[in-house]
Amino acid sequence: MTLAKTLRTAKALADAGLVARERLPALERVAAQYAVAITPAMADLIDAADPDDPIARQFVPTEAEFQALPEESADPVGDFTHSPVEGIVHRYPDRCLLKVNHACAVYCRFCFRREMVGPEGLRPLSPEALDVAMAYIAERPDIWEVIVTGGDPFILSPRRLSDVMARLAVIEHVKVIRFHTRVPAVEPETVTDELVAALMAPGKAVYVALHANHARELTPAARAACARIVDAGIPMLGQTVLLRGVNDDPETLTALMRAFVETRIKPYYLHHGDLAPGTSHLRTSIEDGQALMRAMRGAVSGLAQPTYVLDIPGGHGKVPVGPAYRSEDSVEDPAGRRHAYPPKPV
Ligand code: SF4
Repeated sequence: MTLAKTLRTAKALADAGLVARERLPALERVAAQYAVAITPAMADLIDAADPDDPIARQFVPTEAEFQALPEESADPVGDFTHSPVEGIVHRYPDRCLLKVNHACAVYCRFCFRREMVGPEGLRPLSPEALDVAMAYIAERPDIWEVIVTGGDPFILSPRRLSDVMARLAVIEHVKVIRFHTRVPAVEPETVTDELVAALMAPGKAVYVALHANHARELTPAARAACARIVDAGIPMLGQTVLLRGVNDDPETLTALMRAFVETRIKPYYLHHGDLAPGTSHLRTSIEDGQALMRAMRGAVSGLAQPTYVLDIPGGHGKVPVGPAYRSEDSVEDPAGRRHAYPPKPV
């Protein structure tokens, strides 16, 4: 049965049969620290009888979130240290993030911004702060691309999105506008023609990057929502977080990458899990990630291969950490056999 509304409290999760009632006191403490939201579309996908359900692992809070490790950080990718004005994160010369809001349709248990998003997180940008952020972009001709993120920008009304786009559209040096969102998968019914129209900006290339971590998230409704975006001429990219017990086996990851491509979404990044507090139960090792990438290289079309990346803690940037195939005098083929390169003369 599809729920009527988003589950936002530990009690609502218990009432929906997603957690046992005896866990309520502990989970209420988790929820007080890190926001909870599971949309009807995602709750619908959860098999409550499966203790290892990969959708539940992403959204249902657990006591494991109390276990923060010393190397984990409230700001694992250095947003604060690279924020010159409220709402802007400027890490690389040619692009910046514009964080217009700090709310999301769902709250992911592994979120790298879990200390910033949700009702207790950062406040949304005020009209004055948005003016300052837009002025920051307008005054820096090196900014070629603006990545609109949050939170999740797709939970804004089409009117507010249109306003953001109209203001970016008049900045001549901004050529590319990219949105980062989970909404087309987790709340597909809200991707209306009106919302898609609000993403258009004359003279700008617009991209939408969809964050999804399991093929089950790409339901027929989610695929239809993505089709509305792509049919409007907006290319889509896929972003995935490598998560233990969710997608860290070759079959599951392959199914997700193929589901992206079938939906006309080009897999872009496979993110190694960031060092956000209380998320170690969902992180893999980099060696595990490299083994997965190696397994996919031999088995899956190049179109379905993401780049496996690590966001270096402290905001030092994202770098590929996939397996290396080339050594000084040889190269490894997708089946693991080594070949001299350049080939020896015959
Ligand atoms: S949708 Fe993105 S920003 Fe929001 S909770 Fe999930 S990972 Fe964090």
